[in-house]
Amino acid sequence: MIAVRFHGRGGQGAKTASRILGTAAFLEGFVAQDSPIYGAERRGAPVAAYTRIAKEPIRERGLIVHPDLVVVADASLIQDPAARVIEGIDERTVVFINSQMTPEQVHAQGFLPGRLTTLDLTDIALQQFGKRGAISALLGAVAGRFVGLRWESIEDAIGRELADLGLADAVITQNQTAARHCYETVPAADFEAGTSRQAAAVQLRAPTYESPARGTARITSGPNSAIRSMSGWRTFRPVLRPDLCNGCWLCFANCPEGAITIKPDGKPAIYYPHCKGCLDCVEVCPTDALTVERETEAVNKT
Ligand code: SF4
Ligand code: SF4
Repeated sequence: MIAVRFHGRGGQGAKTASRILGTAAFLEGFVAQDSPIYGAERRGAPVAAYTRIAKEPIRERGLIVHPDLVVVADASLIQDPAARVIEGIDERTVVFINSQMTPEQVHAQGFLPGRLTTLDLTDIALQQFGKRGAISALLGAVAGRFVGLRWESIEDAIGRELADLGLADAVITQNQTAARHCYETVPAADFEAGTSRQAAAVQLRAPTYESPARGTARITSGPNSAIRSMSGWRTFRPVLRPDLCNGCWLCFANCPEGAITIKPDGKPAIYYPHCKGCLDCVEVCPTDALTVERETEAVNKT
């Protein structure tokens, strides 16, 4: 069995990427299983998705603790303990990171074990689409390349999965074009198919049942959002052009994180440590006073 774990931020497409990979494998005659985990999360928060591929029925369920391949949609996740990216990675695990950094630069920062490879999918998507957006098709294509699936299967899977999401034919074709570029250019890694250590490492346990009282939500500590920095969540950041701002405050009203305040002159100000880069403010701004800049590398941001 091959065990693939995707890590991304809500809205980047990790869940759909795992579905594309599973569907492509299924189309080639394999047994496939995919499932996401994101809990009561919000856009920009860490999410993970799992794909298992095998020739025989897959009886494992749940989290993939010891993956053969890890696909990371956003380099900022590596330093986020909540994302648990490095969990279960050993010297045989192939780790792909969507990043402007080379594998040597990543290793130089002491980030990761495993067989590391990188490609700047965000830049490829920007070139293909002309704007930011989900990179699920690109992630799925890269993963499919590593595990040895044919391009035709991945192309078919992208078409099916993105059509299920309601995307227009022209957008699906754009995704397939960008994904094919990634499939053909992602640097090779020494992937050992079928080396999953999951089955040997995990003990099966019988489920236990607790009293309903234990499941009742209780909040026992005070609010802490003010001390939580979300700078590392951003792939793109909003930037204000005060000369174009008419002071309508729509950005202030729509920011889900309260990261925008109003200055005495009536113009907004963005507090970047609390800005997660959702860009809702950019969407609602009627005068294009908020522009978008790509973060150069999603670490140590303010
Ligand atoms: S300032 Fe804009 S991009 Fe940042 S969290 Fe608020 S709405 Fe999202
Ligand atoms: S939505 Fe745009 S125009 Fe309105 S206050 Fe915000 S930046 Fe200014």
